[in-house]
Amino acid sequence: MRVAILTSEAVPFAKTGGLADVSGALPKALSELDVEAKLILPLYDQVDRTLLNGGSVENVRVEWRGQVHLVRFWYSDVAGAPAYLLEAPEFFARSTIYGHNDDHIRFAFFSRAALALLKHLSFEPDIVHANDWPCGFAIAELNARRRYDEFFQKTRSLFSLHNVGYQGLFDAGDLWWLGFGDPPERDYFALDRHASALKAGIMAADALSTVSPRYAREIQTRDQGHGLEWLLRARKDRLAGITNGVDYTIWNPETDPHIAANFSAADLSGKRECKLDLLRRFALPEEPERPIIAIISRLVGQKGYDLIRQISGSILETGCFFIALGAGAKEYEDFLQRWHDAAPGRVGIYKGYAGEPLAHQIEAGADMFLMPSLYEPCGLNQMYSMRYATVPIVRATGGLDDTVRQFNPADGSGTGFKFGPYEAGALLEKIREALYFYARPEAWQKIQHNGMVVDNSWEAAAKKYLELYLEIQKL
Ligand code: ADP
Repeated sequence: MRVAILTSEAVPFAKTGGLADVSGALPKALSELDVEAKLILPLYDQVDRTLLNGGSVENVRVEWRGQVHLVRFWYSDVAGAPAYLLEAPEFFARSTIYGHNDDHIRFAFFSRAALALLKHLSFEPDIVHANDWPCGFAIAELNARRRYDEFFQKTRSLFSLHNVGYQGLFDAGDLWWLGFGDPPERDYFALDRHASALKAGIMAADALSTVSPRYAREIQTRDQGHGLEWLLRARKDRLAGITNGVDYTIWNPETDPHIAANFSAADLSGKRECKLDLLRRFALPEEPERPIIAIISRLVGQKGYDLIRQISGSILETGCFFIALGAGAKEYEDFLQRWHDAAPGRVGIYKGYAGEPLAHQIEAGADMFLMPSLYEPCGLNQMYSMRYATVPIVRATGGLDDTVRQFNPADGSGTGFKFGPYEAGALLEKIREALYFYARPEAWQKIQHNGMVVDNSWEAAAKKYLELYLEIQKL
């Protein structure tokens, strides 16, 4: 089985969110199942060049706007599977990975170059597995290629939706010179009066997947479909939900090199040291008895900051510390700054993308982890939290609902605290409930232990992807 995985971000090369964690771990997990997986992504300025440890593939022919471009891909095997990074500085040497007016052009070029690389390497994939809207172009292009290019005749496609809220919208007038001006491709992209790379991928892919079973159902509803629910409903027989795994070689408190002291389910004593270390890092008073509630997320509406803002005063009245790490919308960064300024001894903040070490230190040092998301396709931090004995408080949506079980004091089962309605009052209630049990060490240790022993490893998820690939091959 030969699989080409196309993505716009992957750990350890470039990351803005969970997509990178998934794209970085899946190829390695597939390789362990004897799948020949190749990972393809752009070479951004942000990529640490020392990771490019295997030379390069040169003179890959990419036809683009009537001309032939000869491009280079850099090779790396640090992610445990072959990775190829497209060098195209005019598109990818930018200060940020996304957020440019020509994003659709950048990723259309990437998609075309990725398919050109496969041909250059004579790597005829059984499956092209493309992720999110930036790679929707590759799905549409593969469809077109199958009509005239012998090389891709047998290749089938899987399009994975990590977040339907990002649709890759652009001016439909650009479709023509991007090479998608004729039907059926033009119609795949058409969305109202715009063009959408996400919609094109959903329409053109042989099969679809999302990152949790519940999210697969939710995106078929008006509430969560972001306007594409009709299409996802129409294609539901080809839509699978596979919960993301956790890379426990990276997220494991027993071996984590970033944290102050290692700990395990059998011996939690190191966690106290991690807590003190975390308080110091955020210049908070060393009061280890006071609980720490933490959050790490992109600062966007999806992540539930509106709820936190409404009850920020009440949260502090419970007597906890609050630690937030996040990058994104200015309104939320400003809110965090104001909250910190009002209570510098209780609220610790880091605005910006901090990289891996601080995220690990927060997971290890905090007592509770907040994910009050409006919607959450899968969510990774709740699973990291459980492994680090940090109890998740989540909204019952998408992958959060699938992966966190509400604590039941009657029988001691459950891994965290879950609330239903997207309301600040419901969140505050759950925070209070969690703090109640935090003050009862026997119950708390039970919840911590229940979470630590949950196995969300990639092995199980990779097997499900392999089964799906085998099914798609038969189409
Ligand atoms: P999403 O993909 O929607 O961003 P996930 O919970 O699936 O949400 O994944 C988020 C990932 O990004 C986690 O690994 C988290 O630790 C990391 N992350 C998010 N924001 C930051 C930040 N500001 N600094 C460091 N890591 C971050």
